[in-house]
Amino acid sequence: SQRVVIIGAGIVGVNLADELVSRGWKDITVVEQGPLNMPGGSTSHAPGLVFQTNPSKTMTKLAKYTVEKLLSIKKDGEGCFNQLGGLEVATTPERLEELKRRHGYASSWGIDARLISTEECLQLYPLLNKDAVLGGLHIPTDGLALAARATQLLIERTRGAGVRYLGSTPVTEIERSNGHVTGVTTPNGSVPADIIVSCAGFWGVEIGAMVGLQVPLLPLAHQYAKTTALPGFKNRDVNTKINGMNATLPILRHQDQDLYYREHGDQFGIGYYGHRPMPVVAASLGLTPQHVDDKNMPSRLDFTPRDFETAWKESQKLLPALQETHFADSFNGIFSFTPDGGPIVGRAPHLEGFYVAEAVWVTHSAGVAQAVAQMLTTGRSEIDMGECDISRFEEIQLSRDYVSETSQQNFVEIYDIIHPLAPKISPRNLRISPFNSRQRELGAYFLEASGWERPFWYEANAELLRYLPAKWQPVERDAWSAQHYSPIAAAEAWKTRNAVAMYDMTAFHRFEISGPGALALLQRLTTSDLDKEPGSITYTLMLDNAAGIRGDIFVSRIEDEIFQIGANSAIEFHYLTHEARFQRQQSPTQWVQVHEITGSTCSIGLWGPRARDVIAGVSTDDFSNKGLAYFGVKKVHVAGIPVLAFRKSYVGELGWELQTSAEVGLRLWDTIFQAGKLHGIIAAGRAALNALRLEKGYRTYGADMSTEHNPLEAGVVSAVQADKKADFVGKAALSRLSKTPGLRLRCLAVNDGRSMVLGKEPVFYENKAAGYVTTAAFGFTVGTPIAYAWLPSDVNMGETVEIEYFGRRVAATVVREPLYDPQNSRLLD
Ligand code: FAD
Repeated sequence: SQRVVIIGAGIVGVNLADELVSRGWKDITVVEQGPLNMPGGSTSHAPGLVFQTNPSKTMTKLAKYTVEKLLSIKKDGEGCFNQLGGLEVATTPERLEELKRRHGYASSWGIDARLISTEECLQLYPLLNKDAVLGGLHIPTDGLALAARATQLLIERTRGAGVRYLGSTPVTEIERSNGHVTGVTTPNGSVPADIIVSCAGFWGVEIGAMVGLQVPLLPLAHQYAKTTALPGFKNRDVNTKINGMNATLPILRHQDQDLYYREHGDQFGIGYYGHRPMPVVAASLGLTPQHVDDKNMPSRLDFTPRDFETAWKESQKLLPALQETHFADSFNGIFSFTPDGGPIVGRAPHLEGFYVAEAVWVTHSAGVAQAVAQMLTTGRSEIDMGECDISRFEEIQLSRDYVSETSQQNFVEIYDIIHPLAPKISPRNLRISPFNSRQRELGAYFLEASGWERPFWYEANAELLRYLPAKWQPVERDAWSAQHYSPIAAAEAWKTRNAVAMYDMTAFHRFEISGPGALALLQRLTTSDLDKEPGSITYTLMLDNAAGIRGDIFVSRIEDEIFQIGANSAIEFHYLTHEARFQRQQSPTQWVQVHEITGSTCSIGLWGPRARDVIAGVSTDDFSNKGLAYFGVKKVHVAGIPVLAFRKSYVGELGWELQTSAEVGLRLWDTIFQAGKLHGIIAAGRAALNALRLEKGYRTYGADMSTEHNPLEAGVVSAVQADKKADFVGKAALSRLSKTPGLRLRCLAVNDGRSMVLGKEPVFYENKAAGYVTTAAFGFTVGTPIAYAWLPSDVNMGETVEIEYFGRRVAATVVREPLYDPQNSRLLD
């Protein structure tokens, strides 16, 4: 096996050593700057509450594994996890609704959870103020992780299995040669390595800087206070060594006031997220001392009582027994926050052999360690790690200012009720397309993703609602699904299907792949034979070595050695770049370059039955079927502007994506808009686009499918060319797949034609939670809400299932897809 150095002996680092050694890897060294018995990082003082339920399926699964693993680690009859259950209480009607949504997540991701009444909350937790609590969510498998103890037991276990530990040994440099790591430098000499995994917690920025890697995390101080003994708890055995095993109540969350609670023997622990964000620079903390103890460690700062005043008042309201206590041992502890709240995990894009597993809570620690161990030993993690991938950020999201502002915002919002479409408040207008000024004039309603401003609809189209045929009139929505939505989207969809509309497609990722090895690279990484004439477009998949889908992409051959990729995220860019570098090293004559061209170009989707009339008014190029067939691409001129016209459509109507360079984008927009007026053109936004794409059954990578799914299950087998001669990643695994998958991505139509769902809701079949919704929209053309959902494949076409939306069951039918134009007659015309 390879020589591995793990930096950091916190809960993540030692779990990783354990996961690797248990997979038979032998040469593992853990280097820790602090003393091993108490290294002094976040783990050393973590109160260890493990609430597993999360809007993210990935995060919930990571937590579930962590609980299972911690339950299995025991010594002298004592474990590392006290499965007391978790209780989240609501003190406002809004939170009570939110708990229903969280109950839905639990059901979707396979966690047993129950919505309970005020009385039931009190039975579980007699200290609660009956008058304050409106209800709760109870999760029996949550509990308290004894993180510091687990770390010590894992050190003992892995040492026994041959892992070397170097305590009180800071890593000061990462040694490299030819773009590959070779070892770490410490004051006691070098430790050679083929693979280095930085599990340095909130010191991750400093370790990253040693190799020029920007690790987008921000260390923040977070208040944790312990009370004096509760009078009612006086008889407890406070001397019990194993902190946490003498607790009896569930762990408790009071999100309306940014608070959480646990017991420490006869004392109470109170964690608070309601204070001002308090950023810390890890480098300013100095070297970890030789001696670390409970009160004296780098991750522990002095308590700032004024920041805790509201927390204390609110805690006494919720738990009146606290009125008889004071603060005892309280502190501001440091841990990591990130721009989107997710951990930072995976291979560094630019340095071979360097990996990161940081900004990880105790809650997800063993799960993340397992995922990294699987990546290293088998090349893939069984749990899809896209939401945690260090490569998921755009370059602009890596600047220190961006990381600082958005991570602080995440701290502030950690327990807030957030709508799935809610944009960042700030920074905004970070990335705007060249059409932005015109979009504003048209009253665009912008939502933000990856820094891009993306119009969802245009107020200028409001008057169209007056002419909308009765069949197209949108249904009334409930208050939640009506957020970040306007009925104008229905009018925009109607115009797209019946006249013509222009969509801003700029924010979709575009990469250019060029060089003598470009074809070979793409042949090796995709499921289609791309050795076609220039001018062809192919919808294809990138698989991992177990045939899990790593991405669905459009590959356009522009010239013999120039391809353009339409992709989903920065992760695909880094994957392609990495593979291109590998190919260059293997065979220098087959060099290939990958360029990110999203921001330097822009794109307009011109779609609808009258699209050809519009383009005929501004271009003399041949846009007929003969001149540019479906899935063809060619260079054209539109009013003198050089444009690449891609004959494809995300909405299922005739038309093209018209791409040009950014500086002439505005001119292209104006030209088309002006020429389109004769034919009733409108600008249309994402709300309509999402609905139209779902009617056509077009998947969204990340939401509808991921590495956890293969092409058969995801219903994208048409993107796999069965007779492709060339070998490609995943080909062997594909041939071994069962032809009858256990799960399938299904299209559901809501029976009452009006009840909206938004995604991630659980789906019940014969009254049992059987799957979950991926994405959903109101299908304006078909006149009913549509939801795509993962379901067991024995749930057949025509059967009824129920989707749980805020605790209410919505009946839906499994229907044949796509719902709109299955023959593609609108596209091929
Ligand atoms: P750490 O435990 O910080 O370990 C990183 C290690 O790397 C450190 O020991 C450090 O010394 C070492 N290191 C750094 N730089 C170097 C170097 N150059 N050379 C060698 N070694 C180095 N999480 C939960 O899940 N539930 C909770 O209830 C919870 N409550 C919390 C309450 C507070 C007050 C705080 C501060 C955090 C809380 N957390 C909680 C978060 C949790 O504690 C951390 O996310 C988790 O412990 C991080 O583990 P880690 O192994 O990544 O980092």
